[in-house]
Order: sequence, then C-alpha cells, then structure tokens
Amino acid sequence: MRIDISDYYTPSEWQLFHAEAKKHETPFLLVNLDIVRKNYLDLVKFFPFAKVYFAVKSNPAKEVLEVLRDLGANFDIASRYEMDKLLSLGVTPDRLSYGNTIKKAADIRYCYEKGIRLFATDSEYDLRNIAREAPGSKVFCRILTEGSETADWPLSRKFGCHPDMAIDLIMLSRELGLQPYGVSFHVGSQQREIGAWDSAIAKVRYICDYLADEGIKLKLINMGGGFPADYISKTNDMTVYAEEITRYLKEDFGEDLPEIILEPGRSLVGNSGVLVSEVVLISQKSSTGVDRWLYLDVGKFNGLTETWDESIKYPLYSEARGEPCEDFIIAGPTCDSQDVMYEYFRNPLPAYIKPGDRVYWFTCGAYTTSYASVEFNGFPPLKTYFVSEKK
Ligand SMILES: *Cc1c(COP(=O)(O)O)cnc(C)c1O
Repeated sequence: MRIDISDYYTPSEWQLFHAEAKKHETPFLLVNLDIVRKNYLDLVKFFPFAKVYFAVKSNPAKEVLEVLRDLGANFDIASRYEMDKLLSLGVTPDRLSYGNTIKKAADIRYCYEKGIRLFATDSEYDLRNIAREAPGSKVFCRILTEGSETADWPLSRKFGCHPDMAIDLIMLSRELGLQPYGVSFHVGSQQREIGAWDSAIAKVRYICDYLADEGIKLKLINMGGGFPADYISKTNDMTVYAEEITRYLKEDFGEDLPEIILEPGRSLVGNSGVLVSEVVLISQKSSTGVDRWLYLDVGKFNGLTETWDESIKYPLYSEARGEPCEDFIIAGPTCDSQDVMYEYFRNPLPAYIKPGDRVYWFTCGAYTTSYASVEFNGFPPLKTYFVSEKK
C-alpha cells in the first residue's frame, strides 16, 4: 500500500512543501519552521515543569536554531563548534549544556572561558579534566540505561556508567571542588517503549537516596531525548509519553520534583523536514531476476545515514501514477556498496515510476543534513531550504 500523505502532514503543510519543492533541483531537504515551532510549544505544554535543551546535532541549521532561540529554548551542545555557533547567534552561555561525555581538556577550557558552567560526565578522567579546566562548574553524571532493543537508534551503550560508579563520580566531584548537580540518561533515540524511562528514573531515585545519606542533595534530572517522530512504525503520541513519564517521576519523587531537563532532538525537528530526491536509474541484475533496484540521487552518504542497518524506516512517497505498487530495493548514487538504504524492509512505490520522477522522504528533519558527507564521490553536502507561513 502506498503511504497516505495525510498521516504525516496537513493539506496546507503539504502544499507549502510541494510548492517550494518545484523551485529546486534535487536532492535537497525542505524544513518547515512552523512545525519546529509547534513541536517546541507542544513539548513545553506537555512538560510544563521541564526545561527544554534542544539537541543541536539533530539539525544544526541556523534557521532552526534561531526559531528555538526566539522561543526561549536552551541547547544541548556536543562540541565547541556547536557552542561557537550558538554564541554567534546571540544565545547566552547560561542557556547551554555541554552534554558530550567525550571531550578534550582543551575544549573544556575553551567552553569554560566562553561561559559554559554545566557539563556532563561519565568517567573519572573526564571529571578530573572538568575540575581542572572548568573549576567550580556544575556537573551531572550520565548513567547507562536499558532499552536498546526498543529504540530504533540506540545510544545507551557507548555513553553512561553504572549507577554505582555514578555515585562514586558524584562524590568525587564534590572533593574536586565542582558542584555535584545531577544525573542524566538517554534511553535511546526513537524509543518506542515508554517503560524505558520508568526504569531509568528508578535508578536516578536510588542514586539520589544514596547520595542524600552522604550529604549531597542532587538538584537535577536530565532525561535526555528519545521521544519519537513519525516514521513507518507507529509510536504513541507525545501526550502519552508525557503523561506516563510524568507519572513515573511523581511516583518516585512525589510533588517535590528536582529540576527536570529534556534534551529532544528528533521529536522537535524530525517531522519538520521532507527530503526531495529523484530517481536516477531502475535496473535488474539478470533477465530472470525478480527484484528491481531503484537508485536515487540521495543515499547513506548525503543525508540518509540513519537507514544504517535499516534502522529508521522513512515513509516514501511518489507522485508517479497508479497501482500496482512494487517493492523495490532502494539504493543511493555513490560508488560504495554500503550505499543501499533498504533491501529487506520494502517500501512500496508505484511500479510505473521512472528515472526523473521524484521520491519524497517524509520525516527527514532530524539527523540528515548533519550526517551528510562533504564530498564523497564529489556529491555536495545536502542543501536545506526553509518554508514558513509566517513571513
Ligand atoms: C542525541 C542526544 C539527544 C537527542 O536525542 P533524540 O533521541 O534525538 O531526542 C539528547 N541528549 C544527548 C546527550 C544526545 O546525545
């Protein structure tokens, strides 16, 4: 079955994308800034007690950052470069959190000198670097979480430490003259199992109780990202996430909640973007082969990195006429045999689609342009154009 546009966009949103798409040569990403704005305002409404730090890596376009800046958002940065970009847009350093646990001592110093005072950590070496290069700063410790099987893009094994180690690090941070501030976790991106937050929050409760006995009162829970965007596999609505997660927090912390931080990336920008591509070639590998290969002018190396292991299943739409649909193998344009987006997962497209026809990839506002390679096979990085009803 072909996908239904109305499952993803309102008629006026689609019209706006479509009219703008006609003006440009493929491939490119279109981002609707009104959708980013709406996603942010919804999130703030659903989590009135939380501070939102946008995960810049998911879409670092200046236009996106400006919209969120003007709405009062804070930002989760992963490098000095993201910090410099935000400072140049007039965001003050008190609105930034250095959330990457992997950083050079020189970069900690650089960010400290520019005014950053909130840092994540998950190891003793990094913590000692923070104490030396960013003295007196607030630190939060990232813990490991479960949930990597139910997240479409897991993040939890590389980052974080065991809760017992987090306790040791937080106690050490006090000895080192830092401010032991809180605990963070990330349950994995595009997390379909809301219960993943429940077990993570329970671990934070355990850490808080243990540290309270040591005379340390933690002030912050940073619940990371992981909230979903609409791809092929359905997820619960954000309202359900918000209700459930709020309930877990109240069960474990009562009405006296610590400061709560959310760091959404995907859920704020994912559905704001449509990636527009064109069919380059359709071919078969033998005269009796049953599969047809459809090659597009976008692939894993110019925007579709998250099709890695077919993890993120983007909805594809084509205007080519008619039924029947066919399950093509879908691949990108570069000379790398890894540049195949979907071979096992089949995304039906009209059987009569032909070279030159356009294929629209929905929900591409997150983790596309920021992953695109610079010059692989000479293909330029993916361009972005912006649309908005507000002028
Ligand atoms: C990537 C990342 C996020 C954003 O995650 P989403 O699943 O896109 O919301 C938030 N916090 C940290 C520390 C991250 O690394």
